[in-house]
Amino acid sequence: MNYVKRFQVKAGDKVNLKEIDAGFRDRHRSHEHALAEIEVYNNKLRKLQYLLYAENKHSLLICLQGRDAAGKDGTINHVLATLNPQGCTVNGFKVPSTEEAAHDFLWRYHKAAPARGQIGIFNRSHYEDVLVVRVHDLVPKEVWSKRYDQINDFEKILQGNGTHILKFYLHIDPDEQLKRFKKRIDDPRRQWKISESDYTERHYWDDYTRAFETAMEKCSTKQAPWFIIPANYKWFRNLAISRIIVETLESLHMKMPDPTVDIKDIRKKYHEILKKEGEGKPENGS
Ligand code: AMP
Ligand code: MG
Repeated sequence: MNYVKRFQVKAGDKVNLKEIDAGFRDRHRSHEHALAEIEVYNNKLRKLQYLLYAENKHSLLICLQGRDAAGKDGTINHVLATLNPQGCTVNGFKVPSTEEAAHDFLWRYHKAAPARGQIGIFNRSHYEDVLVVRVHDLVPKEVWSKRYDQINDFEKILQGNGTHILKFYLHIDPDEQLKRFKKRIDDPRRQWKISESDYTERHYWDDYTRAFETAMEKCSTKQAPWFIIPANYKWFRNLAISRIIVETLESLHMKMPDPTVDIKDIRKKYHEILKKEGEGKPENGS
């Protein structure tokens, strides 16, 4: 099964999140059962990132969105554990600072977009400006409603410069969110993650559903697709996202770049040094 095709929101499709099974795990019975496949994709991802970095032609932007406790941080942990940190940037977006709020809404995201050769991960993204902003009327409707087109234009600018964009909605159901909230209360190592807003935002579940659905309907394009990732099982979420990143990078048909030097000439220089330095050395050690 091709996961890009399986989980992608096709351009122009209607999205109905209630109909999508957040507990889907494909053919895997358990995490243990999926471990071998997870490892295969981690290895592929590592090699592809090396190629992306070496080729220095493309970049990849991964946007993670989801409700509270959907697993954005956990996904980043999993994906990054595989990658070379030199080829990665991670940016989390919270309530805009005074400086950010004094600019157009895309300013802070554009500045953080990945450079050629890099994988950039957005923990929340420019979509917050049509999600939380829409749900809570943080700006008037005539302002946020224009943002879908503005986002599509912004993403086109990035694509035109070699950035491939993957947008993931981590899909959990209300029961799973409550289970995770309970875990946060009961586990002292997780209590720091609790915020009042987790509870206030849950009251707006249906408003968020509509906002997510509209964003995915209006802004899923062939070049910058949205994916709805079943995320009740954390290991399946991680596997699905790794697979989609791998399938996307594979589709770029990247090649190792030609060396920037004449290898024959360099080989000659190397042997000359070896010979010269060898001549000065005693025959059998010291
Ligand atoms: P967290 O990701 O849990 O650290 O929370 C970040 C908070 O910042 C969430 O409550 C988001 O809704 C909020 N946030 C992110 N982007 C924006 C934005 N553009 N406008 C207003 N709030 C935002
Ligand atoms: Mg939070």
